Amino acid sequence: MQHKTIKELSTALAEKKISSVELTQLFLDRIKQHDKKLNCFITVTDEYALSAAKAADEKRAQGKAGALTGIPIAQKDIFCTDGVKTTCGSKMLDNFIAPYNATSVEKFIQAGTVMLGKTNMDEFAMGSSDENSFYGPVKNPWNTECVPGGSSGGSAAAVAACLAPGATGTDTGGSIRQPAALSGITGIKPTYGRVSRYGMIAFASSLDQGGVFARTAEDAAMLLGAMAGFDPNDSTSVNQPVPDYTATLNDSIKGLRIGLPKEYFSEGLNPEVGKLIEAAIKEYEKMGATFEEISLPNTSLSGPAYYVIAPAECSSNLARYDGVRYGYRCENPKDLEDMYKRSRSEGFGSEVKRRIMIGTYVLSAGYYDAYYLKAQQIRRLICNDFNEAFKKVDLILSPTAPTPAFKLGEKMDDPVSMYLSDIYTIAVNLAGLPGISVPAGFVNKLPVGMQLIGNLFGEAKILNVAHQYQLATDWHKQIPEGY
Ligand code: GLN
Repeated sequence: MQHKTIKELSTALAEKKISSVELTQLFLDRIKQHDKKLNCFITVTDEYALSAAKAADEKRAQGKAGALTGIPIAQKDIFCTDGVKTTCGSKMLDNFIAPYNATSVEKFIQAGTVMLGKTNMDEFAMGSSDENSFYGPVKNPWNTECVPGGSSGGSAAAVAACLAPGATGTDTGGSIRQPAALSGITGIKPTYGRVSRYGMIAFASSLDQGGVFARTAEDAAMLLGAMAGFDPNDSTSVNQPVPDYTATLNDSIKGLRIGLPKEYFSEGLNPEVGKLIEAAIKEYEKMGATFEEISLPNTSLSGPAYYVIAPAECSSNLARYDGVRYGYRCENPKDLEDMYKRSRSEGFGSEVKRRIMIGTYVLSAGYYDAYYLKAQQIRRLICNDFNEAFKKVDLILSPTAPTPAFKLGEKMDDPVSMYLSDIYTIAVNLAGLPGISVPAGFVNKLPVGMQLIGNLFGEAKILNVAHQYQLATDWHKQIPEGY
């Protein structure tokens, strides 16, 4: 049962082959059995889950069940959950019990899903390997010496190891797509504004976007449909109806024009990863899609622009953790300033501090124009590159990450090399576009992901194209040994 997709589990529940309480217990047991090794969860909400499952079964008995009623899922610990510890992977929030639900969490409750627990993550979503968590690193179920990717690595590894059939994530520069790729599952980051950020702890507000992980594009379509939608509590949420993403999954892709950005297939890309992406291109050609080389000329500037804008926004967002209102407070502060200083230096980890320092520097008087303003101008150029590309093609295809999963510790002393693991994902956030990563093969028994980038609000299209690939291939059906 644990290997089934959400779609299959939904059918099993509808046909009364299993109850939600039984299904929930099964996943809770699996978490108990495997999570000591993997460290995917910060909090497991056993009781909460079983009572939600019981309510789901009752709803079903009354004939009021929807497609997701009774389906267990995991929530990234960046989403506020009423009455449940919400840490964002930080010592700063180790004692924080959220007083309300994030809109995304609320929407999943309304859809009838059952929350199994809160997943591990890089502190404040800053990282690409999940090694920056206060709660220790997450291990990749394909090889526990390797990282699962980050920052939503707990969610990705939990789905890969079948500890949950689906999970939420957030993506500021790649944190859904890159861990989906490194963990061998499907992950979608929707258009900026598609999913509410209310109650989703802020890292870089103009880039952050919630999304989902699942094993298939079809499951991702089901989950995203529940999560997306306008929210008056988020001023950047877009008031557009949410299409039924499952309704167009089987559309033909004959004649679809797919662009291959030449800058994404150059040096830095592991040749074995490149070969798998070429094989995926052949698969699509068989289905009648056509390919053309395109150029996104400002690609090399996306990393530098991101690592100015994201730290700038984070330094402002994280100013709220002052030891006064909530979160960690140092012991026996001498005075107010001592309390601010020690609460923040004891409560934040080193990557978060590095970002806050970069952010305050680039925003400071005298440097603002040289760094922050310049980065914003580059961001505009990057958006223009994509706008030009989408005049010629319907969709863009690339590798998700330049290499498969790397070893734990391998990049910890070299932040710049760590930052490079997001080179194919970051520009998509700067432009606010939707992107999905799907499994496309293995290198040295480690999964590789292919990225499909859509135009604004093109979620249905990228899900459709991802689903068609999954009908023709079985990379997404592989399960790591022992799970
Ligand atoms: N790895 C990138 C960073 O460290 C992106 C993180 C994310 O998407 N949350 O900022």
